[in-house]
Amino acid sequence: MRLTTLTTATLLATLAAAPLASAQSPRQPHWAELERETLEHFQAILRLDTRNPPGRETRAAEYIKGVFDREGIPAELVALDSTRANVVARLKGNGRKRPLLIMGHTDVVTVDTTKWTHPPFSATRDGGYVYGRGAVDDKDNVAAGLMTMLLLKRLNVPLDRDVIFLAESGEEGTTRVGIGHMTGPQFDKIDAEYCLAEGGGTTRVGGAVKYATVQMMEKRGRGIELVARGIAGHGSVPLASNAIVHLAGAVARIGAWRPEIRLNATTRAYFERLAAISPPDVARHYRGVLSSDPAVRRAADDWLYQNEPRHSSMLRTSVSPNVIAGGYRSNVIPSEATATLDVRMLPDENPERFLAEMKKVVNDTTVEVRFQGASFGRPTGVDSKIDSEAFRAIEAGVRRVYDVPTIPTMGTGATDMSFTRAKGIQCFGFGPAIDMEDGPRGYGAHSDQERILESELHRFVRLNWEIVTSLARASGAPVP
Ligand SMILES: [Zn+2]
Repeated sequence: MRLTTLTTATLLATLAAAPLASAQSPRQPHWAELERETLEHFQAILRLDTRNPPGRETRAAEYIKGVFDREGIPAELVALDSTRANVVARLKGNGRKRPLLIMGHTDVVTVDTTKWTHPPFSATRDGGYVYGRGAVDDKDNVAAGLMTMLLLKRLNVPLDRDVIFLAESGEEGTTRVGIGHMTGPQFDKIDAEYCLAEGGGTTRVGGAVKYATVQMMEKRGRGIELVARGIAGHGSVPLASNAIVHLAGAVARIGAWRPEIRLNATTRAYFERLAAISPPDVARHYRGVLSSDPAVRRAADDWLYQNEPRHSSMLRTSVSPNVIAGGYRSNVIPSEATATLDVRMLPDENPERFLAEMKKVVNDTTVEVRFQGASFGRPTGVDSKIDSEAFRAIEAGVRRVYDVPTIPTMGTGATDMSFTRAKGIQCFGFGPAIDMEDGPRGYGAHSDQERILESELHRFVRLNWEIVTSLARASGAPVP
C-alpha cells in the first residue's frame, strides 16, 4: 500500500511537470515508472490462493476493491456466495456511447504442488519471468484491466462511454457464482456495447512477436452419449447382441467420421490472414481449406488433422470419444455399455440435425444416441464483428504495441464470454505475448507450471491501455 502511494505520487509529480502543449501528449502514461506498481498488484493477486474448487475469490475481490477505494474509483463486491465475490468498478463517461466492459477472472485451476519448481502461489520472479498459477490464466488480464482503470482515473481521461471493470469468480467450471450471476440478476451493473476478456493471444517465436489473435466467437460444448444394449449371458457363449461389440463398432465409426467443413466470417478471415504470414509449405494448407474444390479442401483437412488438430477442429463441429464404460467381470457378457463423446458445436450448429446425422453414422439400432443433460451448459449469443469499432481498435493497438498483424479467431473451448455474448455484448478475447515454445515445455495455462515474461506483462498493460483509450476516450480529447 505504501509502495502504491509512493508510485502514484511520483507519477502525478511527473505529470504535473510535463508541459501541456508538448508534442508528446501529457496524457501518455510514463510506462517505465508504472512497471513496479504493475508487478506489485500482479504478484499480490497471484499470491492469493484462489484455486477452484473451492475458489474463495473474495480475497482477490477485496484486494482489488481496496486498490480502487484508495484511488477514488467507485467499486463494489457483488456476490451470490459470500466467499466467492465478484468485483465491479465503473468510471463514468459522458454517455455519448454505450459502456465498455473489461473482464478478467480471479479463480484459477487446481495445482499439483509437487510439480512446481517455485511454489504455485509464491509469484516468484526468476530469470525475467513471474511464476504462479494464474500467471497467464487469467490474473494477467485482471492486473492489466486494473492498471488501465487506475491510469484512466489518474490521467483524468475524458470518456465518451463508461468503462466498467469486472473481475469475476468461478470461470473454471462454476460460472453460477461468477459470470452467471453477473449476467443474471446483476446484469445492469455490467451491461455494455463491447467487452474485452481472455481467449486470444499474442504469439512470440524465437523471442519475436509474430501475430496476435483475437477471439471473436467460440464453439459450444454439448456431450453426447452412446448407450449399447444387448442380452446378458455367460462369457463362454458369445452372443451376437454383445453390447461391448456394438458399442466398439459405433465408437470406431464415429472416430473415422469427420463432420462436414463449414467456415464462417471469423474462421475464413483466420485462415486467410494466417496464410499471409506463414511459410509457403504451411500456408498452402490454410488456403486449401478455403478452396471451393472438395478434393483440395479434403487434402488440407487431412494435413491439419494430422499436424495441427486444433485447426481441424475449427473447421467443423468436432467429436471426441473420451469415456467408455461397460462390463464388470470377464465371464459375464454385460447387457449395457456406454461411451461419452465431447462434442464441440460450431456456433451456428443445429444440435438436433447434428444428432440425427450422428445416428446415421452409428447405424446400429441397438445403440442409442442421445444428448447428455437437458441443455447447453453455456448459452449461445452474438458473434463479434471484424467490421466493428472494437476490432479496429484492437488491430490498431496491436500494431502500435507489437507492430504485427491481428488475426480474428474462433475458440474451440468455452470462456465466460459465452455469457456476455448471450446478452448481446460483442466480446473480444486477447492476451499477452507468450513464447510459442513455452506451452509445450509445460509452462502454459492449466499446465504443471505457469509463468509470464515480466516484459510482456508490461507490454500487455500498454496494449490494454491503447485499446481502451481508443474505444472510450472522448472524441476531441488529446490522443496519446
Ligand atoms: Zn481463463
